[in-house]
Amino acid sequence: MENKLYFYNTLTKKVEQFVPNEDGKVAMYTCGPTVYHFAHIGNLRSYIMEDLLEKTLRYIGYDVKRVMNITDVGHLSSDADTGEDKMLKGAKREHKTVMEIAKFYTDAFFDDCKKLNIKMPDVVEPATNCIPEFIHMIEVLLEKGFAYEAGGNIYFDTSKLKDYYVFSNQSEKELLVGVRDDVDEDENKRNKSDFVLWFTKSKFEDQELKWESPWGLGYPGWHIECSCISMKHLGEYMDIHCGGVDNIFPHHTNEVAQSESYLGHKWCNYWFHVHHLNDKSGKMSKSKGDFLTVSLLESKGYNPVVYRMFCLQSHYRKPLEFSYEVLDNMSAAYDKLVKRIGTLNTDGEVDREKFREYREKFEAALCDDLNSSMAITVLYDMLKADISDATKYALAESFDQVLSLNLTTAHAAKEAGAKVDTELESYVLAKIEERKAAKKEKDFAKADAIRAELLDKGIIIEDTREGVKWKKA
Ligand code: AMP
Ligand code: ZN
Repeated sequence: MENKLYFYNTLTKKVEQFVPNEDGKVAMYTCGPTVYHFAHIGNLRSYIMEDLLEKTLRYIGYDVKRVMNITDVGHLSSDADTGEDKMLKGAKREHKTVMEIAKFYTDAFFDDCKKLNIKMPDVVEPATNCIPEFIHMIEVLLEKGFAYEAGGNIYFDTSKLKDYYVFSNQSEKELLVGVRDDVDEDENKRNKSDFVLWFTKSKFEDQELKWESPWGLGYPGWHIECSCISMKHLGEYMDIHCGGVDNIFPHHTNEVAQSESYLGHKWCNYWFHVHHLNDKSGKMSKSKGDFLTVSLLESKGYNPVVYRMFCLQSHYRKPLEFSYEVLDNMSAAYDKLVKRIGTLNTDGEVDREKFREYREKFEAALCDDLNSSMAITVLYDMLKADISDATKYALAESFDQVLSLNLTTAHAAKEAGAKVDTELESYVLAKIEERKAAKKEKDFAKADAIRAELLDKGIIIEDTREGVKWKKA
């Protein structure tokens, strides 16, 4: 298979040609949401751009298996293993159990994804489903000497690695070594950068969900879940791992440390990271409290798909600032675009040559580090080009497999309207015949009843010299 997709690999810090481990197949993993609150539109920016990557891969012919975890335990308020478990915090806020809020916010997340036309991953696995797998991996890490027990917890020993900071360059590494100076020091850690694999210590006594383990009753750390869940479904070699840039450190750094120490070989070749959606005060985050959701946009009258277009018009490697002004412009552009496609006459022939030419241009834009705004420009150019309407419509339908902007909805609605009209017409004509027969039989009560029935459906009939005429009221 031709490998023509290029995108930025955080591991090598280069835009690279994508070559999967197995020809034609892609093993892809995405860090799922922490389900203690609604996803904000910043989180959803990451999922929209990952969806774009997945659909581009499929469009150019790859067979993709995508796995996502749901974080329903172990993600603490601070990524440096301090503070409360976010799930417990959410449950307390709502006076519910952790499992109740996990279910509620998982459903809410996938509802939002549906509204944004984000494809459901092939596998979705909550962390709480995989406790035996976590325990097994931690046991192996202990056996191999990469982990140690201290104060009841199990820690990963980062000093055992030649290169722990795999995603950072030299100067960043120096900064990161000191990065945790300001958080309350965990006396149990041998090295500042060590992280928890399994918690049992009393500090977290009010933790709601706890499981038996060889080290006592406790619960897993956040990072171990992604290593285990991905391996459970994708095996020991992964092609692409995705997330937002805030996941690079410490989450993905720790995932690599655990996974490769456990496996004894390289784990994932490509790391795809989406930059943040910001508001005026900086990165949009759940903990800041004031965040924008899909439902909020809907309540203000926006079609969620317009937000998808807003994201696709910007590059995944650039921070994006949200503003209602830009969203308003996008909304107007979107309506015009869908209306334009709605006016295309699809009766004619599709020009195969032109179809191939524009499809290639569209693919070339996407394969150039997922240049989605260029791909949308190809769509606009194609609509302006001197080619048949049927070809344009076929191309719009095809591009929408990746863009997922419901581009052909206006057209489909028009066709559905036309179908309703023909169905209505045959119904009215049948009723007129029935009424004629009733009149012939001198059953005027029945004839009147038919007239009333039609009027009820908004149809007025009129007896004229040329026969019975009808119109919509
Ligand atoms: P969380 O639910 O906090 O675990 O985050 C879910 C996903 O959203 C992760 O991939 C994060 O990296 C990503 N994310 C968090 N904040 C933002 C933001 N402001 N913009 C884009 N992605 C984000
Ligand atoms: Zn993860």
